[in-house]
Amino acid sequence: MPPDVRRAIVQAKQKEDAGTRAALSLSTIAGNIETAEVHQSPICQDTGMPTFEIKTPSGTNQVQMKKMIHEAIALATKNGKLRPNSVDSLTGENSGDNLGPGTPVIHFEQWEKDEIEIRLILKGGGCENKNIQYSLPCELDGLGRAGRDLDGIRKCILHSVYQAQGQGCSAGFIGVGIGGDRTSGYALAKEQLFRKVDDVNPNASLAAMEDYILDKANDLGIGTMGFGGQVTLLGCKIGVMNRLPACFFVSVAYNCWAFRRQGVTLDSQTGEIKAWLYKDEEVKVTSENDQAVNGESQKDIIVLEAPISEEKIRSLKVGDVVVINGEMHIGRDALHNYLMDHDSPVNLEGGIIYHCGPVMLKDEQGEWHVKAAGPTTSIREEPYQADIIKKFGIRAVIGKGGMGAKTLAGLKECGGVYLNAIGGAAQYYANCIEKVEGVDLLEFGIPEAMWHLKVKGFTAIVTMDSHGNSLHADVEKSSLQRLAELKEPVFK
Ligand code: SF4
Repeated sequence: MPPDVRRAIVQAKQKEDAGTRAALSLSTIAGNIETAEVHQSPICQDTGMPTFEIKTPSGTNQVQMKKMIHEAIALATKNGKLRPNSVDSLTGENSGDNLGPGTPVIHFEQWEKDEIEIRLILKGGGCENKNIQYSLPCELDGLGRAGRDLDGIRKCILHSVYQAQGQGCSAGFIGVGIGGDRTSGYALAKEQLFRKVDDVNPNASLAAMEDYILDKANDLGIGTMGFGGQVTLLGCKIGVMNRLPACFFVSVAYNCWAFRRQGVTLDSQTGEIKAWLYKDEEVKVTSENDQAVNGESQKDIIVLEAPISEEKIRSLKVGDVVVINGEMHIGRDALHNYLMDHDSPVNLEGGIIYHCGPVMLKDEQGEWHVKAAGPTTSIREEPYQADIIKKFGIRAVIGKGGMGAKTLAGLKECGGVYLNAIGGAAQYYANCIEKVEGVDLLEFGIPEAMWHLKVKGFTAIVTMDSHGNSLHADVEKSSLQRLAELKEPVFK
């Protein structure tokens, strides 16, 4: 993770009050960054869509470069640095090596310089799902009409942060593309994510807009993971290009806090690295001495161990911090779909389901080991979750970003809770897994299989309880009110 991103996270930690849910989350994130670095393991289990932006002088063999990139991607996947993330869109089959039509993404551009520049970003699916494109003029929740002018653009960008809530693993960074067509607008937005967090936009109007958005987005009170708090956005970069007279798009690429990008320049003759593009300074991110994880706030923690009784679950309320020991089962999209009309391979009565797509490696003795195991976005399971809770007697569901009204009603009816783990804290949670007890439905692929785990000290926060309360619904409501306060025009 580059130093400018680390610096933004360190500054965010300083802004949050000790002992709050946001401070606990940021401490976990900081500890996770440290652990990932020490073990050279993925910061987050979702190692994203590898996207390369390459500039070459004329005469460079791009076919050979592409071949070498493919070999490197396959090797990094085999070594557990990248999760197998390339899935056939029609059959759902995972290619297993991160190679396939459209994966990885490689864009070449020829330039006048004599050297080769390569930039890489690993952007995960949770935040990719929170990208958004606006076609102006349009009507926006809380903000009213966004017209075809600077102030309309301002409204769209504020709205993009609001609609992401905590689901893209906030606190996040946004790249914005103004203009273009539907595809080039998104490409421009993603390109902005390669800019350093602390650079200054050469266009004075856009520089002022970037500062304004960063300031006001943090007033929305969405906070880290959508738990509420002072810091929602860590960076905003805006680019502009021409458009057709009939079209006016504002495209936003949302990136989570696990903002992984790197770049090099290479000697075009020898291939040697001449310079690193994002390694100007060492910035240490640490959770050492954080009161949020080490201090007073630990004393109220509740321990859960499956099978969990209905009485115990009904005693929990939104805001409680819980620590899970014992058994839990990983399940995400493919498993939820499967369980709708099949029996579970194991008894789930009183049990805990974890929405996660882990990175797993098998050793020579055939034992599985967890390399990364943070939560995935839970809202994808909304169509299934309440039915599955009811059918199998599940008491707790762990994930990130919260779930909707149907699940909330299911938790109330059956006696269950939704626990929000810290999105992206894949090393922190991998360390909580004492043993992989077994796996079923491996034919769904490693990220989608049903893994059976034994955990210790797995911390999460109750954000939806069995009494009809949802922290996610509350934060969404209050942030909408604050968004509406920003309705008046600011930029002419
Ligand atoms: S931190 Fe969250 S959004 Fe980012 S890659 Fe990980 S799970 Fe996805």
